[in-house]
Amino acid sequence: MDFLLISAPVANFGQATSGLSVLTSYLRAQGWDAQQWDLAIDAFHHFHSPDYLRERLEVLRRNDCEPKLLERSEQVVRDIERAKASLQQRGVEREPETMRFAFQTIHDAGVLITAASLGAYEHDFRHFGIPDAFRNYTSLDEALGDPEQNPYLEYLAEHALPRIEAQRPRAIGISMTYFSQVVPGFTLLRLIRERLPEIPVVLGGAYLTAVEGQVPAIPPRVVPADAIILHDGEQALTAWIAHTLEGQGSLEAVPNCYLPQGEGFTRVGERSLIHTDLDTLPVPMWTLDGLQLDRYLVPQYPIPLPLSRGCYWGRCAFCNISCQTVATYRTRPVAKAIADMRAAIAETGSNWFDFPVDSYRPAELHELALAIIDAGLEVEWGAEVLLDAGFKDEVIADLAKSGCRTLRFGLESACIETLKAMIKPTRPKHAKRILTTCKANGIQTAVMLIAGFPTETQSQLMRTYDWLIENADVIDFLTIHQYSLVPGSPMGQDPDKWGLYVLPQEAVLWTSMPFVNTNPVSMKNDDLPRVVDAMREGLKPHFTDLGELWTVAIGGWMTFPAACGVRRDLVHPISGG
Ligand code: SF4
Repeated sequence: MDFLLISAPVANFGQATSGLSVLTSYLRAQGWDAQQWDLAIDAFHHFHSPDYLRERLEVLRRNDCEPKLLERSEQVVRDIERAKASLQQRGVEREPETMRFAFQTIHDAGVLITAASLGAYEHDFRHFGIPDAFRNYTSLDEALGDPEQNPYLEYLAEHALPRIEAQRPRAIGISMTYFSQVVPGFTLLRLIRERLPEIPVVLGGAYLTAVEGQVPAIPPRVVPADAIILHDGEQALTAWIAHTLEGQGSLEAVPNCYLPQGEGFTRVGERSLIHTDLDTLPVPMWTLDGLQLDRYLVPQYPIPLPLSRGCYWGRCAFCNISCQTVATYRTRPVAKAIADMRAAIAETGSNWFDFPVDSYRPAELHELALAIIDAGLEVEWGAEVLLDAGFKDEVIADLAKSGCRTLRFGLESACIETLKAMIKPTRPKHAKRILTTCKANGIQTAVMLIAGFPTETQSQLMRTYDWLIENADVIDFLTIHQYSLVPGSPMGQDPDKWGLYVLPQEAVLWTSMPFVNTNPVSMKNDDLPRVVDAMREGLKPHFTDLGELWTVAIGGWMTFPAACGVRRDLVHPISGG
């Protein structure tokens, strides 16, 4: 094997990240013997097995924990297998009580694991963190090497290294999409470096791209990678592998590539504005080979096919998406997208497609939908799109006919002043029409909101609150995020313009920047959690499950399966899967 591409724990238990399968397919098309490994799903099952949880329960018993926690933990040990299995049953997406039981049990497993760490770390199905580890690189170094604080040291040494030793790949890539993957990903890197020093390792993924400005300060003694590649990986990774394995080309020609040099990492290639042209990806652009679909906790595998990249708007003040994708929006040509979908259906037996996209122009999504209808593909799909006036009623009707089951929208606010300050093109009247038409066509709607934008006053937030209540009947899933300032966003680059005073960063590799809001009439940071909580409470009678664990889950990973269940009853039986 030339190259093993690994997704580090902790990640989504419902799906492998799309980048893993797309990069593997690309490297193979370039002639490399590449393999993908979703180590995250293996780790999830290990840490959520009855044996592991029972062993943690013993720790709680030895430490005289509260009887209530003990009792609940005993129940979790008994229920965990049933909870996991229930999420894989066909039709579970139509059984809210079963989903509630399953998510509550998996959530409580995290409470048990965290409690049994006796304050050393926090670990659940979507999060792993060590308190204070990211204060600086000395504390991170200590935490990474301390088995008390880092259970991944033992897990990866026992479960990941033997497989790598047996497979002996010529090079390894470790991909990190979420913050939760950083400690496990770095731990794996250090173990490989220690035990298999001859294997070169490259790091990459969306999380490191999001903290691009901090990458030069990462000390190689703490993170001993041979290279870090940011942004689109296809061309850069191919060039790095060709150089590393065959001595071809020079590393200076690898775009967005950082190499260890002295006390940090130095970019050797250009900070390139080249993005992968989706027309040049092989057909199929996605491969199943290397994934075990029966490991994922979903009733049917939602194939993550990234048919577009980037955002065609790319100007929202708070957003760093355009930074991560270097601002260029691209789509896969429709004929190739249809061929990809056919191939993925044949490989997986699933006809669910959850397109992991940041945006999709209405005209292009319409063209794709018409092609799906023409090709006679009986699929169900969902995507994240803008509340763009281009989603005319007839377009939405065609999307629904082609199998669209849910659309996720970043509404952010329903107050025009706030939307203008955000440089968000959405307008409430278009939003209302689009959401209403979606519902009329059986498309479930998910709406995301930002509370506490720096210029937002409490009365402006209340206008959004009122709008949500007025439109509750056309919104199925609502997620409220508190505003945070992120590097790479227009606000992160020019905070003064929005009245923000940036404070010194007291953590490393962190995606939110501490700030003081100097806008005179806006809400203060310290008050925000209280305001957001009050808003959630007030909205609950209108969005019954808002904030409940199982809707947090289906407001995230499970939105698409949940929406498929609802729509399936309304339309036609599903033949695939
Ligand atoms: S928030 Fe959405 S619409 Fe705005 S720039 Fe980011 S991806 Fe584009």
